[in-house]
Amino acid sequence: MNKKTICKAASIVLILLMLTGCSSISENPNESYSVTVYAMDTVMELTVYGNQTILNTAESLIFELDSKLSVTNAESDIYKVNHEGGGTICSEAYELLNQALELCKRTDGALDVSIYPVVEAWGFTTDEYRVPTDDELHELLRSVDHNSVDISKNGRVELAPGMMIDLGSVAKGYTANRLVKLLSENGVKSALLNLGGNVHVLGTKPDGALWKIAVADPAGDGYVGVIEAADKAIVTSGEYERFFEQDGVRYHHIIDPATGHPADNGFLSVTIVGNDGVLCDALSTALFVMGSDKAAEFWKESDDFEAIFIASDEIMVTEGLEDAFSPIGAYNDMKLTILHRD
Ligand code: AMP
Ligand code: MG
Repeated sequence: MNKKTICKAASIVLILLMLTGCSSISENPNESYSVTVYAMDTVMELTVYGNQTILNTAESLIFELDSKLSVTNAESDIYKVNHEGGGTICSEAYELLNQALELCKRTDGALDVSIYPVVEAWGFTTDEYRVPTDDELHELLRSVDHNSVDISKNGRVELAPGMMIDLGSVAKGYTANRLVKLLSENGVKSALLNLGGNVHVLGTKPDGALWKIAVADPAGDGYVGVIEAADKAIVTSGEYERFFEQDGVRYHHIIDPATGHPADNGFLSVTIVGNDGVLCDALSTALFVMGSDKAAEFWKESDDFEAIFIASDEIMVTEGLEDAFSPIGAYNDMKLTILHRD
């Protein structure tokens, strides 16, 4: 290559660099921008097409909601209400608590935001794991009752003595909803938000293709299968997400409010697919607690979500996901049942 050719090649590279520079300023709608955020005790990965600057605002929103909704942050309204028996809470916590309490009623207490004293006794929010005695659990369960959480005075929460609330089962779903709203209001048409087990996809991929979301294998490192979706929350609750072992027994973090023990009703994981992040987050926890018969019945009586239930020897998929879900690898050989409404 002679000197002239080198100069020409260099100028082409420069023009390409300038074009690339221009595209990041005008923010090419086909260009993806990502950020990893550690919040709410998990690793979150946000991928947004066509708008890089919004990621800073999105990240700040996550940190703000984390501190406002946290049950362990001594500055949060939830913490204060838990330690003072009541008080005024910020609008975000109030809005979420309101929606969560409706879902506690709808799931007949399988979801119960007042389960916190029991969760705390097992050490799941403090990492000081231990197995409480049956007497201790029995005593703590006396103050678990979502129906006794009083939010009738606007912005105020009143708790019965000994009661504590925890929005940990729904906070990531709420955060995903708020992120989707923020992104939509800022012109983003395409985004993949992975808030550690809570996935929310906005629109389709820029080329119009559906997003492919892998469902984690609750029994290993791989995946059970893939869900194709657009504009959906896809939320998984599983016993593998947080647990400890003592004397050869594994204890996980999803508590059955009927017993005070980790739910043991046959599921390894539950994935809920729907339009609303809070609904999907609440129901992934609640249907995990219910177990297969009650969960299938609950789905049949509902029209606002679809589900994938993973048990040790069977995958159950509700009919609305029959075409969208494909098992992969070893899960191709597992029994797969499609649940129908009639
Ligand atoms: P998730 O990962 O969304 O299923 O939520 C599980 C978290 O919610 C746990 O780590 C606890 O903090 C809390 N939790 C556990 N069991 C319940 C329950 N039955 N109802 C409400 N929250 C729960
Ligand atoms: Mg949940």
